[in-house]
Amino acid sequence: MSQKINGVKGMNDLLPGEIEVWQFVESTARTLFGRFGYGEVRTPMVEDTALFVRSVGEETDIVGKEMYTFEDKGGRSLSLRPEGTAPAARAYIEHSVSNQEPVSRWFYMGPMFRYERMKTGRYRQFYQIGAEAYGAREPAQDAELMDVVVQFLEALGLTDVTLNINSLGDDNCRPAYHAKLVEYLNAHREELCADCQQRLERNPLRVLDCKNEKCQAVAAAGPNVLEFLCEPCRAHFTDLQRKLGVLGIKYVVNHRLVRGLDYYTRTVFEFIASHPALGTASTVGGGGRYDKMMKGLGGPDVPAVGFAMGLDRLVLLLKEGGKTFTQRPDLFIAVADEGSQDAGLALASRLRREGLKVDFDTRGGSLKSQMKRADKSGARFTLVLGEQERQSGQAKLKPMAGGEPIPVALDSVAATVRAQPEAPAAAPAS
Ligand code: ATP
Ligand code: MG
Repeated sequence: MSQKINGVKGMNDLLPGEIEVWQFVESTARTLFGRFGYGEVRTPMVEDTALFVRSVGEETDIVGKEMYTFEDKGGRSLSLRPEGTAPAARAYIEHSVSNQEPVSRWFYMGPMFRYERMKTGRYRQFYQIGAEAYGAREPAQDAELMDVVVQFLEALGLTDVTLNINSLGDDNCRPAYHAKLVEYLNAHREELCADCQQRLERNPLRVLDCKNEKCQAVAAAGPNVLEFLCEPCRAHFTDLQRKLGVLGIKYVVNHRLVRGLDYYTRTVFEFIASHPALGTASTVGGGGRYDKMMKGLGGPDVPAVGFAMGLDRLVLLLKEGGKTFTQRPDLFIAVADEGSQDAGLALASRLRREGLKVDFDTRGGSLKSQMKRADKSGARFTLVLGEQERQSGQAKLKPMAGGEPIPVALDSVAATVRAQPEAPAAAPAS
């Protein structure tokens, strides 16, 4: 016997029955981003490794530890994308988009890859929906982006999510904060985890992002980045908060928020869900402003702000909510005798063309077994097709939830089914 081959650890299959909730999230995102004028971009899953090293940063966990990097047959170092901001920026630069329009709004969705320790809400192939707005330096753009996320979460029915915001300053004011932070962390070196003792040398801001409780306690008592902001950065942050107020968006200022990527300047933000199902993986999404990245990648001096959300975590939250997302068939067609099998196949085909969702068992079998399958299918109605129905052109729609059969002419089944009031919907309209 051949040995069974399993999927790769940390990479999941999504099958019918589960995929519907994903499709609901994705179609809701498409609707919302569309309303805000964000157009979809699709970039390749694989990029030059240098792209992530130069933008995300060599010292981050993402690039330093988690990337799937390999050499192709031509000897190039390539990486499976661990995130979507750098590839989008690369495409923006490569296609000289800034020459065509001053402000561009893009969104993307798709798989990302990180070699992480797996647990609930943390996988090696996971999915993100993200958006980037290029060309506007103003806090209104940051606020607009947060507004998309807020409205998106609202549309999904996820209300138990808190927006955290912070400002990391810019090249002007961050060095002073940086120096103070290093001084402080060095004084508390012994209390930090082994990873953070290393981070302290190479990228001290990362310590604030550590999930270890002791490190978090040290970070909490450390210097407050907001006290170091220069005047323009302070004004930017103040105006952002005022704009959020204008939009009625609730937020918490969290001066320890830094995010796990190197490219941020000024605004950073995170949406944190308080659901116990997620454990430490409670951040459903986050983002920030990266005004320097384009230039750093050899592109134009274009400011940008963006965010990314983890779909896997949104889906976990929605599943906890207990709603069903599968769409049940309108009709199950059963055949009463062998001789009606072809007519059943043809009727199913015609009704599908007319827009009904129809289930038909291609295996045939006894009427009793077909009726069992009809029950299992969750169809609203069953129509039994036999010689008599074929002769007379008349049949009956049997409501599967109970009730009187409804007489129907075989040439007006679709219209009759549509005219029947829906029982309380199983799936939300999207
Ligand atoms: P975390 O702190 O949870 O590791 P992160 O800071 O690495 O998150 P980002 O790189 O900002 O996350 O990605 C944005 C979102 O993508 C996260 O908030 C999360 O919802 C999702 N995400 C990140 N890594 C994973 C993963 N390995 N599995 C599932 N979702 C993930
Ligand atoms: Mg991470």
